[in-house]
Amino acid sequence: MSYKNFPMVPRVIFGRGSFNQLGELLAPNRLSNNAPFVFLVDDVFRAEINLTSRIPISYDDKIIYVSTIEEPKTSQVDKLVEDIILTSKERPSGVIGIGGGSILDLAKAVAIMLTNEGSSEDYQGWDLVKNKAVYHVGIPTISGTGAEVSRTTVLTGSTRKLGINSDYTPFDQVVLDPELTKGVEKNQWFFTGMDCFIHSVESLNGTYLNAFSKTYGEMSYNLCKEIFFDGGISAKDEQDKLMMASWHGGMSIAYSQVGVAHALSYGLSYLLGTKHGIGNCIVFNHLEEFYPDDVKLFKQMLVKHNIELPQGICKDLSENDIDTMINISLSLEPLWENAIGKNWKKSITHKKIKELYLKM
Ligand code: NAD
Ligand code: ZN
Repeated sequence: MSYKNFPMVPRVIFGRGSFNQLGELLAPNRLSNNAPFVFLVDDVFRAEINLTSRIPISYDDKIIYVSTIEEPKTSQVDKLVEDIILTSKERPSGVIGIGGGSILDLAKAVAIMLTNEGSSEDYQGWDLVKNKAVYHVGIPTISGTGAEVSRTTVLTGSTRKLGINSDYTPFDQVVLDPELTKGVEKNQWFFTGMDCFIHSVESLNGTYLNAFSKTYGEMSYNLCKEIFFDGGISAKDEQDKLMMASWHGGMSIAYSQVGVAHALSYGLSYLLGTKHGIGNCIVFNHLEEFYPDDVKLFKQMLVKHNIELPQGICKDLSENDIDTMINISLSLEPLWENAIGKNWKKSITHKKIKELYLKM
């Protein structure tokens, strides 16, 4: 097929306090009293009674608190799936992820691996998943990644960092309740928000751009600019708007791709464990030659919000380590092709990427 026919999230609820409706949303999807709903919840909420007391559990449902100190790994997904299978009488009715991009990705991957054999590593790539996932619901508590709407779940495996991209990956239901984002710490708000800004920049400046991606990308870009640059909006409006910016940014890259910042930050993440949001910021700060106006704008936003980025994170790395990062980055061919064009290999050489890493 020359045009992609991609799935979208079929049901979404938006509104402050909409989290309270979760019980009603889940009830019709319960397969039996022995088939639990499994709630994967960011550890940060363990003591947040206001949230945990509203998680609608009954019968054998389980809440599993998950640390997000590290971003999702294939081994972590496999372990969670094994534990869930061992402790459930029947295959779960559904998996509900409550958290940021890390937890949303874990929920998607666990839902897939409950119905597919083997290790999640076997499915990293494009369209390798054979069976439909169990019903899964995404409830973001921090905005920016677009993971709530995307067709991928990004996992670090033993040899690579790559998503499980499949028609079965997107959520069956998303709950967008901007109130859930109110406790996010400021730097994290900025880094994850900038992931969204960078998604829209990379999509809008990519060679894969079409009107579908462009319209979503522009909405997302303008919302990010309003929130992080223009300012002057109330905290509530800001939370509402950033949640929608994240959604539109995710929609924009669905039909295009990300670009240079993501291609390089995947290398940092693989080798150094640098987190996605801050990693993208560290990289984007040095990408004037690719995205001149937007890097200028980004630097102004850094100043405006008093954000200091780590410097010199690659300067003491061995040749071997730098090579590992370069190889990870170069393997992300669709990202480079989107950013530079079909002939990207002419300008994006080993040497060129090394120069870029050494600036960071
Ligand atoms: P995250 O999920 O790792 O969360 C960042 C931090 O914010 C954590 O410490 C978390 O505990 C905290 N947090 C979350 N919600 C909070 C709240 N309401 N109050 C207080 N603290 C809160 O960060 P992220 O930037 O949302 O996600 C990054 C992950 O998303 C990476 O693993 C990345 O690979 C993935 N990602 C996926 C996609 C996709 O399409 N699937 C796209 C982009 C990024
Ligand atoms: Zn991203």
